Amino acid sequence: MARSLTILGATGSVGLATLDLVGAAGPDSYAITALTAHSRARELAELSLRFRPKFTAIADARQADVLEDALAGSGLRWGAGPQAVLEAASMQADWTMAAIVGAAGLAPTLEAVKRGGMVALANKEALVCAGELFIEHARKSGAVILPVDSEHNAIFQALGGVDATRVRRIILTASGGPFRLASLDVMAAATVRDAVAHPVWSMGAKISVDSATMMNKGLEVIEACHLFALSPEKVDVIVHPESIVHGLVEHVDGGLIAQMGMPDMRTPIAHALAWPHRVETSVSRLDLPALGRLTFEAPDPERFPALGLARAAFTAGGANPVILNAANEVAVDAFLNGHVGFLDIAAIVAESLERGEGIARGPLTDFDAVYAADAAARDLAGAFVRARARRGAGIAKGA
Ligand code: NAD
Ligand code: MG
Repeated sequence: MARSLTILGATGSVGLATLDLVGAAGPDSYAITALTAHSRARELAELSLRFRPKFTAIADARQADVLEDALAGSGLRWGAGPQAVLEAASMQADWTMAAIVGAAGLAPTLEAVKRGGMVALANKEALVCAGELFIEHARKSGAVILPVDSEHNAIFQALGGVDATRVRRIILTASGGPFRLASLDVMAAATVRDAVAHPVWSMGAKISVDSATMMNKGLEVIEACHLFALSPEKVDVIVHPESIVHGLVEHVDGGLIAQMGMPDMRTPIAHALAWPHRVETSVSRLDLPALGRLTFEAPDPERFPALGLARAAFTAGGANPVILNAANEVAVDAFLNGHVGFLDIAAIVAESLERGEGIARGPLTDFDAVYAADAAARDLAGAFVRARARRGAGIAKGA
């Protein structure tokens, strides 16, 4: 019988890659329950006309008319507003792709986890902000969380069923991003176009900037700690510019198991889509002789302070990872809109973590506490953005 699927964030880079696999496999393999998007109503409608979900949801209610027009006469049911996205997430489906970007994905991903079934998790920010709560809800509902982030999917495969707490360490690889070899002066003057020009992966704008600052790897260290119940000392990061090895597990006997593949998200998505089985994909095959060699180097903490900030926030615990994530989202958005410079991103995150007076730092016992810390941190980081924009510090003219 066809596996029923819901895709949260269907119009994004991960959402479209998922639908590419679904389209290639055909309707005998998969049936779509719901598709959601933020504001690209026309693109969402095109996807719905093609995949015929039971429900289509657009988060931005101002796009309701566009969606209505585009779906007129199709007989497809749809809704608009954040509530509609939650409704989509709560519908019964065997498998859900959680691929909304940022903390906006928290509530819909939570709905999917509460419902049970398989949740393919791309939305790393959800685990960064509320990892303990997600894992606890999954335990209660019986939801199986399948890591989609390529490094975590690689670790999941390389563990081969061994409990992660029994390995010596895991290693996440990082491409190093577009500024791997750049000087601080070059980074200070970086434009939006420079920062989103990822050398290997093709991704959404926010995660592309996160890769350039290496905050992406910082978020991924926290994500790995939650997914595999590890302390941060057991999660190492290595820069590997070719992005062929996605993650490694070092076992206690000294054996190091690496998962390799082309840098194409369709491979980890297909692994999660078919789990516990395997499906064919049209991803190009790895040609090892053509590749010749693989290189590895240590990350530079001075040019990429975000990695250290993320480790420190996770170790401090409580609301600190929420502040880290919210301040980063605000700062990346400000950079993408030309209000602050590239190096300001990590500086704003550091300022927010240091000066978050008034934001409760204790353990986050429920989602309301997470949302409250997220909102407070956004206000705080917004004030730091405005101060920096006024000073005109290091403004890069966005391209
Ligand atoms: P993207 O920007 O391409 O797409 C984001 C999707 O989320 C879109 O469908 C958008 O409509 C939706 N969305 C955005 N804001 C929303 C809101 N407020 N409410 C409801 N929906 C909203 O992002 P992406 O690159 O596909 O990344 C998605 C997630 O997957 C991120 O958390 C990212 O870190 C993670 N991830 C992405 C990749 C990749 O290769 N792109 C790899 C690993 C992990
Ligand atoms: Mg990744």
